[in-house]
Amino acid sequence: MIKLNNITKIYNPKKSNEFEALHNVSCEIDDGELVAVIGKSGAGKSTLLHILACIDNYQEGEYSIDGTLVKNLSERQYAKIRNEKIGMVMQDFALTALENVMIPLNFSKKRIKNKKKKALNALKSVGIAELAKKPCNKLSGGQKQRVAIARAIVNEPSMILADEPTGALDSKTSAEIMELFLSLNDQGRTVIIVTHDQKIAEQCDRIIEISDGEIIS
Ligand code: ADP
Ligand code: MG
Repeated sequence: MIKLNNITKIYNPKKSNEFEALHNVSCEIDDGELVAVIGKSGAGKSTLLHILACIDNYQEGEYSIDGTLVKNLSERQYAKIRNEKIGMVMQDFALTALENVMIPLNFSKKRIKNKKKKALNALKSVGIAELAKKPCNKLSGGQKQRVAIARAIVNEPSMILADEPTGALDSKTSAEIMELFLSLNDQGRTVIIVTHDQKIAEQCDRIIEISDGEIIS
């Protein structure tokens, strides 16, 4: 379970371009929930997701994952949490599909046997094992998104975070990608999706709406 308690995030604190992107944000997300985060552009959705993913810091408040407070941890402790608990669906497609999915395995401190096999299994579970050797820049938008999801799940994290995963897709492909998130959620994983798409949001258990850095519903 994850808990945010009065999180405030300020970009460029104490500088002339200081900007408060999140203000006193509190929420709890239970294990296995499927949550949509919606709100206008600039509302603070990505900022919230980055904090949840432990890839950005914050000034005030507390964030805990499964009872562990994530603040002032060492870089090694952060890396451990990111690697073991969190799968972030990211867009980075310079490599082949297989190489892309192997990245989190290469970062892991634990020696992981059969990295290639694990990565292939992840590609299989998103339905594109046959594209493993293809450079990602030769794949369609939906196929790229599948690679990004395979990469997020290859370490079998308990929580999957995605920032506008269907933003660049047509509605049929969006629906297929949403099916994948639904099936990951059915397997018991927590899934948090930032989205502009009403169709995606309404398939989630819960919708968190952000406006000007605050949760409004
Ligand atoms: P959303 O994802 O909802 O569109 P963001 O979380 O990306 O919004 O951004 C929230 C606000 O914080 C925006 O006004 C944005 O301009 C600002 N912001 C985001 N990243 C930075 C940054 N690195 N430095 C300064 N301001 C930022
Ligand atoms: Mg954003």
